[in-house]
Amino acid sequence: MSAESSVTKRLEGKVALITGGASGLGESTARLFVQHGAKVLIADIQDDLGHSLCQELGKETISYVHCDVTCEPDVQKAVELAVSKYGKLDIMLNNAGIMGHHEVRVTDTDTESFKTVFDINVLGGFLGAKHAARVMVPAKKGCILFTASLASKISLGTPHAYKASKHAVVGLTKSLSVELGEYGIRVNCISPHAVATPLFQKTLGVFDKKKGEEVVSASAVLKGAILEPEDFANAALYLASDEAKYISGVNLTIDGGYSLSNQTWK
Ligand code: NAD
Repeated sequence: MSAESSVTKRLEGKVALITGGASGLGESTARLFVQHGAKVLIADIQDDLGHSLCQELGKETISYVHCDVTCEPDVQKAVELAVSKYGKLDIMLNNAGIMGHHEVRVTDTDTESFKTVFDINVLGGFLGAKHAARVMVPAKKGCILFTASLASKISLGTPHAYKASKHAVVGLTKSLSVELGEYGIRVNCISPHAVATPLFQKTLGVFDKKKGEEVVSASAVLKGAILEPEDFANAALYLASDEAKYISGVNLTIDGGYSLSNQTWK
């Protein structure tokens, strides 16, 4: 038996739409979902990356659509495309996000850039959930996931807009899980600590993984708490699968115990 065929396909027959699926955590999750038998539509604004991922993984299982998550017609079109292409929508992962400018002081924070972060991280997720729910409610089943961040729980020194936006994502998760539960729709979010993706690299300038690991794991419960994108993807796989059929309204932290071991964050 080949290594691939011995892996249980935990999303066989399911259809997933992943925003921000052309890079980083979304890309890694798209790869894992395809490996586990799902049909995947990735929605992003990085067309070249999106198309080349589909080329690599095979056009019969994964496709790409240009979609700016802040633009409601784009999001509606992406959901409709998933349904017209694959027949339904089981999993909506609202993952597209940005960190925004890295001014830590409120007095230095530019109001327009604050709004941009909220438009992408919060409004974008809301629109994804809204249009997914329009398909999932009549189907009386579905799974909506959001990518939050550890910044939804502890400060982490990230910009105010980013922290506040990720708190809002958790609020949306809780609110929607209560509203949509009666239709068999589960709503959860995932809060990873630092992951070596382009977003993280952009934020830090040049990303030195070794240096990052030293800082992060100095006080983590588990060592090596700079995550790999696959650590996130595996959490998304679990929450998207039927194994998590009674899990809704949670904010799943992936931080190696970091948040518990750091009570003095500023
Ligand atoms: P990334 O930059 O690799 O991927 C983000 C993707 O979102 C990109 O492909 C980008 O093109 C897309 N995107 C940005 N704006 C968009 C828009 N308006 N419409 C559609 N797509 C858009 O970064 P990542 O680290 O994979 O980030 C994914 C999510 O993970 C984000 O929500 C981020 O806040 C969250 N997150 C990341 C980390 C980390 O350390 N990398 C930690 C916690 C949470």
